[in-house]
Amino acid sequence: MHIALIVAHPDDADIYCGGSVAAWRSMGSEVTIMIATDGARGGNFDPEKLAQLRATEATAAAEVLDANLIQLNFPDGELAQSEEFASRLTAEVVRLKPDLLVAHAPNDYHADHRAVSAGALIAASFRAPVLWVDPMMGNDFLPNYYVDITPFQDLKERAILCHNSQRPEHFVEMSRVQGHFRSAQCGQLGGFAEAFAMIPFTHLQISVLCFPLPLRFSRLLSKALADADAQKPVPVFLEKIHR
Ligand SMILES: [Zn+2]
Repeated sequence: MHIALIVAHPDDADIYCGGSVAAWRSMGSEVTIMIATDGARGGNFDPEKLAQLRATEATAAAEVLDANLIQLNFPDGELAQSEEFASRLTAEVVRLKPDLLVAHAPNDYHADHRAVSAGALIAASFRAPVLWVDPMMGNDFLPNYYVDITPFQDLKERAILCHNSQRPEHFVEMSRVQGHFRSAQCGQLGGFAEAFAMIPFTHLQISVLCFPLPLRFSRLLSKALADADAQKPVPVFLEKIHR
């Protein structure tokens, strides 16, 4: 199974779903992180030098998580104005043929993130289902899929800390708070979890095709998605992954 992520900035994959990347790798999946922009506006530095620095930081973080890395290097902060982004991303998805595409949620707080979300829908089309990733502190986001990253929080933090130019300790702390909250939502106090939402799209087929889950969890996932589709309360559950 090949899972591809498309994120806006060099540290986004590690902050938002670095634990899941490590979990998916531990299950034997190939994971490719695509970074849309060069991150040149992420600080008060010379933009060209900062872009080079952030590319190096992202490479180090991808090595920590043992993931493939593709840096598309679109101008930071201008993704929403780009006419080329969706077609470039589509070309990458056609080339990579991922079984699943993970992207920012459409109502994320950051314009670049929302542009990635829109581009992901165009690129995925009927080629791959899309999983939205929890925004910063989970604002206005209703998850229906959780990954237990408790055994992988340390790797996630090591990946985040590779981004020295971005006050990484701040994001490590936020990831702990959010991870504890999402784990507690699943009834596991003291653990860490990352949350996702599937877009409405042939739900049953997605759950069977994309997740190498034990059958019990596949059934729970199918039921949760069917209930979500019917506007019923969504039961929460947690995929347990152990190293
Ligand atoms: Zn970002």
